[in-house]
Amino acid sequence: MSGNNQKMHPRVRVEASPLRGRRRVHAIAMLSAGERDRFARAANPERFLAGRMLLRELASEFTGLPLTSIAIDARCPDCGRQHGRPTITGTDLFVSLSHADDLTVAALSESAPIGVDIERRHASAERLAAIREITGGGDVHHWTAVEAVLKADGRGLRLDPRAVHITGGSATLERVQYALSDASERRRSDYVISVAVRLGRRDGEGTERQRSLGSAVPASQPSNSVSSGETE
Ligand SMILES: [Zn+2]
Repeated sequence: MSGNNQKMHPRVRVEASPLRGRRRVHAIAMLSAGERDRFARAANPERFLAGRMLLRELASEFTGLPLTSIAIDARCPDCGRQHGRPTITGTDLFVSLSHADDLTVAALSESAPIGVDIERRHASAERLAAIREITGGGDVHHWTAVEAVLKADGRGLRLDPRAVHITGGSATLERVQYALSDASERRRSDYVISVAVRLGRRDGEGTERQRSLGSAVPASQPSNSVSSGETE
């Protein structure tokens, strides 16, 4: 633990897609060339668009910069294409996105890597069985917390989800601690949302933004029934 005084107030926003009316028009107008390309090819373009809009709004509110000047980079560490973890260009902010059904949730932290995950609260029996298997007995809420931690780590499901240990409002992964919060919303009570913010640095790490995300060796391959294409 570095012991520095981390600010622990992640900003979280949820929205249903498609965006409506002028808001959708604005969201499209602000897409970069790379984002337009992805919007055109995405399996669920409206969800992608909602995610980009939410990230821009959170970053704009936090920095005070106009929405139109918020640029998002999502370079994939493996192949260089724009489908990796999003970052806000020119800032030290940390962001994360997750989707479930028509909902998109975005989270922003000013202090440390953040991960967010949203899941339907009442999972199908099949999915619940897969979650139990992959987590070693956990429920949907537990799974969202695990996924949030894996996303805050940056390696996501390349790590074994069972390596995440959760106790109350915090979690540990490879001796690094994470603060967990439940960001579920009363008006969207069918969904569970968990947020994890990293506390302290990993061993041997330089700066937090220079981690080599591409160097991770795939852990024992988790059963893909719960690894979805839902995270960014
Ligand atoms: Zn890639």
